[in-house]
Amino acid sequence: MKLFDAHCHLQDPRILNKAPKLISTALDSGLLNFAVNGVSEKDWHLVKEMGDNYPSVIPCFGVHPWYVPQRSPNWFTTLKEFFETTPSAAVGEIGLDKGSKGREIDFNDQIEVFRQQLELAKELKKPASVHCVRAFGDLLHIVKDIGPFPDGLLLHSYLGSAEMVPEFVKSGAYFSLSGYIMPMKVQKANKMLKTIPLERILLESDAPDALPHLELSSLFLVDKDPSLPQEIFAHGRTTASNVSTSSDTSRDASSLPKDMLNHPANIHNVLDYVANLLEISKEELAEISYKNSIRLFSYQGSKVALG
Ligand SMILES: [Zn+2]
Repeated sequence: MKLFDAHCHLQDPRILNKAPKLISTALDSGLLNFAVNGVSEKDWHLVKEMGDNYPSVIPCFGVHPWYVPQRSPNWFTTLKEFFETTPSAAVGEIGLDKGSKGREIDFNDQIEVFRQQLELAKELKKPASVHCVRAFGDLLHIVKDIGPFPDGLLLHSYLGSAEMVPEFVKSGAYFSLSGYIMPMKVQKANKMLKTIPLERILLESDAPDALPHLELSSLFLVDKDPSLPQEIFAHGRTTASNVSTSSDTSRDASSLPKDMLNHPANIHNVLDYVANLLEISKEELAEISYKNSIRLFSYQGSKVALG
């Protein structure tokens, strides 16, 4: 089985020093590629370095809405330089956020920074990975205004309504699903998933965030504390001896330890969950989502190619 992690943050300071091990474990599990998304000027060099060091990593550069206030006056020039020196890169993470954290950030600034990056993605003929929280109306308006996007647009961790799916599809959007879908009401998730054309579905881990809401025993876990052993698997590959609650693996997800981070290999859990809702086999969903990812991430200079 081949899988493609369409959106993650392996450069995140919480897991950066563990990234080599996370990548090798994920590769062993059948994950072939990782689209690693930068979030601000401060981490683009780390993303670039990771892309240079790992053939499996697709570097993505962008300013995430939460980091809009910290951008420098030269941020856009710097961003364009990163794309010039890194032809294998895609755009991301960019977007709009009116959630609890996003509300603290001037929305007009968010729109301005988002539009600039979306226009750049279109000009460079690269896909863009888009974050959207409670701003789907604004997003659709902008996407229709700047689009269509023949080179693709990835609505990552999509949790929007089923009703909006066809409009986004018309603009060239793909939809990637992460562990964040698990707390969603099954009926709502089901309706949304079944509205997405199969040829537009991707899977992602969003690691180190979006730890799936599942029993510990079925998860790959990453401990936050750097003084502890690098990885804790509840799969029996490594013992979970440093998890104080390790003897209790039957607890429900609501009591997942807060000090645990998501591992890219948990994309297998997302695969199982989504395949189950779609009522198709996980092998079939793996094949479809992998092909879709290759199609979306095949652009001039990319590390992956169709065929
Ligand atoms: Zn993200």
